[in-house]
Amino acid sequence: MPELPEVEVVRRGLQAHVSGKSITAVRVHHPRAVRRHEAGAADLTARLLDAQITGTDRRGKYLWLILSDDTALVVHLGMSGQMLLGEVPNTNHLRIATLLDDGTTLSFVDQRTFGGWQLADLVEVDGSLVPEPVAHIARDPIDPRFDRDAVVTVLRRKHSEIKRQLLDQTVVSGIGNIYADEALWRAKINGARLAPKLTRRELGELLDAATEVMREALGQGGTSFDSLYVNVNGQSGYFDRSLNAYGREHLPCPRCGTAIRREKFMNRSSYFCPKCQPPPRR
Ligand SMILES: [Zn+2]
Repeated sequence: MPELPEVEVVRRGLQAHVSGKSITAVRVHHPRAVRRHEAGAADLTARLLDAQITGTDRRGKYLWLILSDDTALVVHLGMSGQMLLGEVPNTNHLRIATLLDDGTTLSFVDQRTFGGWQLADLVEVDGSLVPEPVAHIARDPIDPRFDRDAVVTVLRRKHSEIKRQLLDQTVVSGIGNIYADEALWRAKINGARLAPKLTRRELGELLDAATEVMREALGQGGTSFDSLYVNVNGQSGYFDRSLNAYGREHLPCPRCGTAIRREKFMNRSSYFCPKCQPPPRR
C-alpha cells in the first residue's frame, strides 16, 4: 500500500497540473473502479462531465480532488492505483480515463483493481472539510493541525502493541508498515511493546520520528518498494535506498551492526534491530 509520502507526491503532481482545469470527457473502462460510488458509473460520469477541479487535498493515505460544486472526487489508490497525466504506457490496466479542457488526459490505472474513484460530499470535522468516507480518519503527522500530545494520550489509553496502534488510521493516519518500522527503528522502540508501558516522552519521540521519516521520504519522491508507486508522470521515488530496517532482514543495523530481524506481525512482517529495539519480556 502506498503510505503518506507516496500519496502526497501524487497529490502535489495533481495540484500542479489539474487544479483549475475542467473535465470535458469521462470514460469508465472497468466497473470495479467505481464500485465505491454507489450511484453507479453513469452517475459518476454525468457528474464529472464539465466539473471544474478547484484543488486537491489529502488526509493520511486518502487523496481527493475538490470540485467546483463543493463535492470531492475521492481517489482510492488501493494496492496499485496510479493517477497518470498524458499517455498511459499500458492500457490493459486503464480503469477510468478523463480529458481536461487543456487537452491533457488524466487516467486512473490500477493493475490489482483494489482502488477506485468515488464522489462524496465534503463534511466539516474538527474544523476541517473532508469527504464523508474520510470523516473517521485521524489527522496525519504532516497536517499543520496535528496534535502530538493528544495522540500520545490516545496511544497510552489502549492496551495493545505500539506498532498496531501506529497502523490504526483512526489514531494517527498515513503510517503503514514501511514507515512504522522505520519510525520504531529511529526511536529505538520494539513495535511489540505495549503502548501504555511506554512513557509519554518515548511516545512523543516516536511520533516525531514518524513525522521526520515521512518528510524525508517525501523529499525523495516516496519509496518505490513496489514499482507501482509512481507520481503523475509515472516516475518512482528513491527513498527505498534510505531505509534502515524495513526490507533489510539479515543486513547489518546501520547504527550498531547487529543483523536486522524479521518477524510476522498482523499478517505482515516487522523488521527491527534486536539490539537497538529489544523485544518485550513476556
Ligand atoms: Zn541496532
